[in-house]
Amino acid sequence: MGDVFGAYSWTVRTYECAADGAATMASVCNWLQEAASLNAETLAFSKSNFESAGENISWVLTRLKVKMSRFPKWGETVSILTFPRGGRRIVAWRDFVLTGADGEELGRATSEWMIIDLASRKIVAIPEGVFAAANTVRPPVFGDEPFAKLRWGCTVASPDALVFRARRGDIDLNGHVNNVHYVEWLLEGRPDTAGPCFELDVVFKSETLAGEEVRVESVEPEPGVFMHRIYAPDGRDHVLARTAPRSAIGAGQGMVSVPTQEAPLPTQEEIKAFKGKGWLLNKGTGTFSARVVTVNGKVSADQLRGVAEAARKFGTGEVTFTSRLGIEVLGVPAGRMAEFEAALSSVGLSVGGTGPRVRPVTSCKGTVCPRGLIDTFSLSRRIHERFYVGWHGVALPGKFKIGVGGCPNNCVKPNLNDIGVAGTVLPGGRRGYQVTLGGHWGRTGGAGTVVPTIFGSEDEVLDFIDRVLCFYRDNGQPGERFFKTLDRIGFNAALAMIG
Ligand code: SF4
Repeated sequence: MGDVFGAYSWTVRTYECAADGAATMASVCNWLQEAASLNAETLAFSKSNFESAGENISWVLTRLKVKMSRFPKWGETVSILTFPRGGRRIVAWRDFVLTGADGEELGRATSEWMIIDLASRKIVAIPEGVFAAANTVRPPVFGDEPFAKLRWGCTVASPDALVFRARRGDIDLNGHVNNVHYVEWLLEGRPDTAGPCFELDVVFKSETLAGEEVRVESVEPEPGVFMHRIYAPDGRDHVLARTAPRSAIGAGQGMVSVPTQEAPLPTQEEIKAFKGKGWLLNKGTGTFSARVVTVNGKVSADQLRGVAEAARKFGTGEVTFTSRLGIEVLGVPAGRMAEFEAALSSVGLSVGGTGPRVRPVTSCKGTVCPRGLIDTFSLSRRIHERFYVGWHGVALPGKFKIGVGGCPNNCVKPNLNDIGVAGTVLPGGRRGYQVTLGGHWGRTGGAGTVVPTIFGSEDEVLDFIDRVLCFYRDNGQPGERFFKTLDRIGFNAALAMIG
């Protein structure tokens, strides 16, 4: 069996273009079909492979979803990466990524296929070997987004239905109207004023044979978005589809990034090295989550937008937030880490926050919270600069976490950090900073021990943290978390050494 990833290139022909000189959605569908056929042939499960094995069966396309950001012009070179991505008993799925000559992503597509017995025209089970060839490296091109449920809401036939009769030239290797002709017919239902179709979602329900008549109806449930139905005169549905213009929030809406070249699965050494730089393996995919460092858990709107754009361009389009107010962008291939980091850098963010060193500080919003007793944003920013940035090159015995809370309500649980700082009120109404040491969470987590001294200023807190870090650096054993160092030496003895 050959490589599960098939990469094919075409030059756009004049007869594949519309009046504006750009390829049409129907042409794209033709390319997808061809790429799928070529890859199936390589993987030894094409129609001709089945024939050679004495099987009178063939693939039929049952679902197709395409999102384009740009249609290439006449003469441009288009590349398609396609790969099977599994399935179950009677359905198999295949994804596609289209790119231009300069590597620009033009669009992507996903599809669902079944196998029919060409004599009985009945669906049959998919041969087991087909699923063995499924891609296990790359995420689905549309992430977890399933095929939409397409419904035709009209109950009264339209007097304006378009009528087509299947010509001999519309019939394909399976002896029925080829899926791309259906696409051409349904696109006739989009008026010119609706603009080009950039998004196509089709369900193919039954076949049409040569000479049979079909009708096409289209309705516009929202501006520019059309539902289409192709059906036989007896009411039997052949096709339901949805077409839409370019997404309002950008051509990449709903798209997730996949690499355009196959990358080998990372080795254990690479996984470890990447982890030390803030890249965490996404199990079962060969891709990585980027841990984006936030300064005290706060980012600007522009930075958030930058993360979203980078996630869409280089990852799966999904972003998660960690319990320590960090951001993780899922599904970035190793080959695109550098581009991702450059994109983040342009909005003042970076990847990191792992390894045996001071971790990014977490902070509640005590600065603006009505209950806040101290300026948490100010203190945590200073902690970030002095200890996350300033101590970045200092190897500690283990990871070291610092949390800052604005009041005893403990919203971000600073006392579960190696050092926790929380705003407090002393008798007489004076405000101060209460510090805990040796907090940790996890399977055997526990709150830190309160330091008897209540600190009166940010500077005092920062200097104390500095002394604690020096103590841990000098007295912790390799791999020993700070709370274990305190347990081993004894809290009071350690406090005396810290000073
Ligand atoms: S810990 Fe206090 S200051 Fe911070 S968010 Fe909670 S209530 Fe507000």
